[in-house]
Amino acid sequence: MNTPARHSLAVLGAGPVGLEAAAAALELGFDVHVFERGEVGAHLRGWGHVRMFTPWTMNVGPATARLLKANGWTAPPADECPTGDEFADRVLLPLAATPELKGRVHTHEQVVQVSRRATLRHERIGDPARADEPFRMLVRNAGGHESLIHAFSLIDATGTFGTPAWAGTGGIPGRNEQYLAPQMSYRPDDVLGLRRERHAGKRTHVVGGGASAATTVVALAKLAAEVPGTSVVWATRGTEADAGGVVNDPLPARAALFAAARALREGSDPAIAWFGGAEIEGFEYNTGTHKYRVTFLCGGQPRIEEVEQVVLNVGYVPDHSITAGLHAHFCWATGGAMKLSAALLGSEAGADCMVAPEGGAGVLAHPEPDYFVIGAKSYGRNSAFLLRTGYQQAADALAALAPSALGR
Ligand SMILES: Cc1cc2nc3c(=O)[nH]c(=O)nc-3n(C[C@H](O)[C@H](O)[C@H](O)COP(=O)(O)OP(=O)(O)OC[C@H]3O[C@@H](n4cnc5c(N)ncnc54)[C@H](O)[C@@H]3O)c2cc1C
Repeated sequence: MNTPARHSLAVLGAGPVGLEAAAAALELGFDVHVFERGEVGAHLRGWGHVRMFTPWTMNVGPATARLLKANGWTAPPADECPTGDEFADRVLLPLAATPELKGRVHTHEQVVQVSRRATLRHERIGDPARADEPFRMLVRNAGGHESLIHAFSLIDATGTFGTPAWAGTGGIPGRNEQYLAPQMSYRPDDVLGLRRERHAGKRTHVVGGGASAATTVVALAKLAAEVPGTSVVWATRGTEADAGGVVNDPLPARAALFAAARALREGSDPAIAWFGGAEIEGFEYNTGTHKYRVTFLCGGQPRIEEVEQVVLNVGYVPDHSITAGLHAHFCWATGGAMKLSAALLGSEAGADCMVAPEGGAGVLAHPEPDYFVIGAKSYGRNSAFLLRTGYQQAADALAALAPSALGR
């Protein structure tokens, strides 16, 4: 790709949305290449044990399904909800291995930074002539070898799961949090499987009020029923026991998760203690007792919890360092694509993932020509993102790129 054709397209990230974009781009006639810093579906593997709350029919993108079916794939039972691992195994891996995409999906190739060739960020401001130079990507492989790769169109689908939010009050690291982060957990721990020994018979502190924290606590309650001495202290910023979830939720699996979490918050299980209104000040770790002391302000009053494990499920934030050389426009509040974030603000789609945002490619556009951010990253801190929305974004972005890239 060092002397790219005008229809060259680089897709960043081989998650479900990046691969859907690649499959759809092939159908349209783009010369597409996908750059993935880990394995195909790497982020899904990070929560591989978690069962999704959307069924297969909603999870498999339309271009993905067409390409897989053309290669003899049988669709899984429509109404069943897969785990992250099942989704990666049954859809993403076979998709990347199709003859059409194999050779176009480059794993263990991290996109470090992107700019325009021979164009500094502060040059050609608002000038469509920026599109005359291709995007220039610095790509690093697993061995540390770096290459420069060029393409005229760029789709960033790198997600947010790789950069968990800090748990400290105000969203910055709490005292000692950066130092202790490598030994605490920032993802939904597989407490009934791989991480069982870490939590069995121990006291675990879980922080967070969203679906990830609810998943962790509900699983820990199951572990507590199996292994005496397992207990949880669960802290949320919100003060309502019934916070979380969607009224008349059309997704039964999600409704069941939040119902179970609500019951635990209301005290249904003596092994689980919940308190709301918590703002984390900091963490200490005692290397003699192997225990953490977590310091909070709770309703303005100091509170300390002593625990053996800490799970911080407080959300994920987009990493904007990759595209710092571009005229990318992100929302100062959510970190999502600016126009999309504005469209989501105060709209039904911003609160309910079942409602698709309006505006098509118009709300996905940035001042940088021929550049789109799609998928979970486009929503930034807003967690109302659904794969179904990402697949529509892929189609919208490609349709917007087609005139300049394909001449139609
Ligand atoms: C626990 C959990 C459960 C969820 N359940 C559902 C659900 O049931 N239904 C639903 O619709 N949505 C669900 N989501 C939300 C969302 O659909 C997922 O987060 C989904 O993985 C987003 O897909 P994506 O392709 O946008 O990004 P990701 O799946 O996050 O993929 C991004 C990819 O980019 C790669 N990458 C990152 N940085 C770079 C770089 N610099 N260079 C190259 N590659 C890079 C990553 O390794 C990764 O493979 C869930 C999310 C979580 C966290």
